[in-house]
Amino acid sequence: MPGTLYIVATPIGNLEDMTYRAVRILGEVDLIAAEDTRHSRKLLNHFNISRPLTSYYDHNQQFKGERILETLRLGKSVALISDAGTPCVSDPGYHLVRDAVAEGIPVIPIPGSCAAIAALSASGLPSDSFTFAGFPPSRQGKRRTFLAGTAGLPGTLILYEAPHRLEETLRDMLKVLGNRQIVVARELTKIYEECIRGTVAEVMAAVPQGKVRGEVVILVAPGESVAEEPEALDQLLRRLLNDQGLSVKDAARTAAGITGVPRNEAYAEALRIRNAPERG
Ligand code: SAM
Repeated sequence: MPGTLYIVATPIGNLEDMTYRAVRILGEVDLIAAEDTRHSRKLLNHFNISRPLTSYYDHNQQFKGERILETLRLGKSVALISDAGTPCVSDPGYHLVRDAVAEGIPVIPIPGSCAAIAALSASGLPSDSFTFAGFPPSRQGKRRTFLAGTAGLPGTLILYEAPHRLEETLRDMLKVLGNRQIVVARELTKIYEECIRGTVAEVMAAVPQGKVRGEVVILVAPGESVAEEPEALDQLLRRLLNDQGLSVKDAARTAAGITGVPRNEAYAEALRIRNAPERG
């Protein structure tokens, strides 16, 4: 009889999100396979779990996968965990699960935290139907093609993104999908947790120069709830200058990024507004 492969979700920040069952299973298995053993050891120590630990990540999955399968064939149980959240969701694990299933090895999920689902649940965007599309490509051309491919999807689109690429991804989103309602869910379950809501342009304007820290999920409302037109340059600049108190230079830079208007043109318009605020 082969052993069981458990796919165990761990917290995405707040350790209180660890489930009782996850703690019990991790304390009972013969082997824990982790994405980053040093990272996971801290989590295991926190819960006083002391079981043999091995690494399983994208680059060693073929070699390590075979050794883990061998352990399972010998009747021993294995738990797979990733650095955060649910393994196999934009994390290593799929190949191991596929191969275990192909051999008839029992695979049991131990559910828990998942950033995509946590973000969706608090987003206020339609949740009856959604598409999780993982990380967009990092190159602009491929990213725009990828976004264009999502344009006709019926439900909410959920993306993971690195914080340093948020600005460029939102800019491409505005170009390719239009000024839809979005939510940027940041640092979920952690101290600086927040959900930034609005149209793409509003969220871009609310994030000074696109700089955010920490981890983010982007949720995009389906096409029919798009805002009609991108915000006019004049209106956007007034909001950045007057409501958000940005300098002429920063307002021009942000507005140029959002609208695609050349930066010198946005700068001239921002100066005009600053010097004659009472005029239309
Ligand atoms: N397997 C994980 C899950 O179940 O959510 C996701 C792993 S994926 C490699 C990491 C990405 O998930 C981050 O870049 C970010 O987009 C998202 N993420 C993870 N933790 C997050 C958090 N606390 N708040 C917001 N997004 C988070």
